[in-house]
Amino acid sequence: MPESTTDLPENCQEVSIIKCSTLVDVLRHRSSQQANIQAFTFLQDGETQIATLTYQELDRQSCAIALQLQTLGLSGERALLLYPPGIDYLPAFFGCLYAKVVAVPAYPPRNQRNTPRILAIIKDAQPKVILTTTAILAQLQSLLADKFAIDNIHWFTTDNLAPDVEQAWQEPKINIDTLAFLQYTSGSTGTPKGVMLSHGNLLHNAEVTRQYMEHTSRSKFITWLPVYHDMGLIGGVLQPLYSGFPCIMMPPAAFLQKPYRWLQAISHYRGTTSGAPNFAYELCIEKITPEQRSTLDLSSWNVAFNGAEPIRHETLEKFATTFAECGFCPEAFYPCYGMAEATLMVSGSVKSALVRSLSLQKSDLESNHVIDAVTNTDSSTTLVSCGRVVPQQQIVIANPKTLTSCDPDEVGEIWVSGPSIGHGYWNCPEETEQTFHAYLQDTKEGPFLRTGDLGFLHNGELFITGRAKDLIIIRGRNLYPQDIELTAERSHPSLRSGSNAAFAIEVDNEERLVVVQELEFRAKPNLEEVTRAIRQAVVQEHEIQVYAVVLIKAGTIPKTSSGKIQRRSCQAELLADKLQVVNQSILDSSEDL
Ligand code: ATP
Ligand code: MG
Repeated sequence: MPESTTDLPENCQEVSIIKCSTLVDVLRHRSSQQANIQAFTFLQDGETQIATLTYQELDRQSCAIALQLQTLGLSGERALLLYPPGIDYLPAFFGCLYAKVVAVPAYPPRNQRNTPRILAIIKDAQPKVILTTTAILAQLQSLLADKFAIDNIHWFTTDNLAPDVEQAWQEPKINIDTLAFLQYTSGSTGTPKGVMLSHGNLLHNAEVTRQYMEHTSRSKFITWLPVYHDMGLIGGVLQPLYSGFPCIMMPPAAFLQKPYRWLQAISHYRGTTSGAPNFAYELCIEKITPEQRSTLDLSSWNVAFNGAEPIRHETLEKFATTFAECGFCPEAFYPCYGMAEATLMVSGSVKSALVRSLSLQKSDLESNHVIDAVTNTDSSTTLVSCGRVVPQQQIVIANPKTLTSCDPDEVGEIWVSGPSIGHGYWNCPEETEQTFHAYLQDTKEGPFLRTGDLGFLHNGELFITGRAKDLIIIRGRNLYPQDIELTAERSHPSLRSGSNAAFAIEVDNEERLVVVQELEFRAKPNLEEVTRAIRQAVVQEHEIQVYAVVLIKAGTIPKTSSGKIQRRSCQAELLADKLQVVNQSILDSSEDL
């Protein structure tokens, strides 16, 4: 790897960002104060091929794109951004903001399988223009050809424009309430919805994240997270820009193909902040070899954030033990909780403090009550604290049926209010009303965002138990699918991890448990033995019979573009016979419990 060139000069002062009221102000400020500092470095192949952008280059390229958008009369309209991983996305995104065009970042489809999500977004957001690069324009046009939804949309490539050195661009009239972009949700529980985020939302969340993660101009961010999702864009791009420290990026695929590259970049560039959903830490434990570990120095890494998915206590313990020899400190773990509707971070832990966790009786959790388990046993489960709510925001736990506040230590729906909460879903007044304008029936407090997640507060710290929409309720017991999925995937070596779904279906007026599980690539196990192993493990750990065990081909379970399991789509595909089933085993009713 070449030498790191992103270090700040020794005498660089912390930059005050207090006066900025929009993201345009932030980038203009950085460009005038730190013009030639490298803001973004992109490792094309995750290792050696490098592209860079200074603050000034980013500013001038953004101005050039904005000028074009303004000339086309697009201020106030939406622009869809379809970019392959790379540096070109950044000026396109800021170019939109510089022109008061609402950016709509999305994943560029690579084949017909990915086009429905894009078409759904186009239909919903009604963009007037699609921004992309010259390299993928033709491919995108042919993939999206003949689709009625894009008939009247301009295509515009942004990587072939000369930077606007004259600054001919006109600064738009925008303020904290101006819509900056539409952040489409992942689509784990339904069709993706476009969350309207204003400059004010983004600056508030950037500021509280900076405070909670204790970022300074000496921090350094390393990321492979996709930049069209909230964690990659708001956490990975906007946070370093706002707090004024460099960001080193690589394509998500570079990490997925070889997880070592992520930790290698942290080690090489002396990264301080870097993180991902829990599965990425698991992949590192699984795939990074002892020889590779011996090359790593992870002692600079002091914010290893983990969010977007359930955080497994066991993963953190295993990761800390495995990478202790590389200088990784367990205090670096930074569990956090967030979502697109709340801009990004809702709660986060204390930097440099050890992760806090609670061991609870599973049976208590199943009936919504939280009582500390005395010791770790088979009948207990360990939950990781997601820390405290960020400043100027409030969390309440509400009963999702009665809409009244829960008692302390009672599980209910997590509701949030404060300046980071988005302005609603684009074009969905009813869903906006239901989700963003909730009031507690007992205290009349509100409005709150209903997150749809279940959890509880314990000594002021937030613990997430699962998603209301995915909760499996069988004979009055609340079963969390992620617990059953974990048990199932571990029951036999030929099963792929992170690639299964547990949900209920109704049979004879009763809810029955189904487990859909991918087999490993190339695995040819005895299918009856595998099915039996899943059934036995689930009965032993959760005292429930699996009604149907459905084994499917590797890589075929429905997932979002951010890699989250879509349990409802999986259920719908099963019922419509659309899964690539290798073996299906349904329990005879006489075998039931
Ligand atoms: P959709 O809303 O379209 O179904 P999504 O909710 O997955 O998709 P995101 O906004 O990307 O879209 O993800 C936010 C969700 O991720 C949260 O509502 C929560 O369910 C989950 N999540 C985030 N952080 C955590 C965490 N620390 N622990 C458990 N779950 C988390
Ligand atoms: Mg959601």
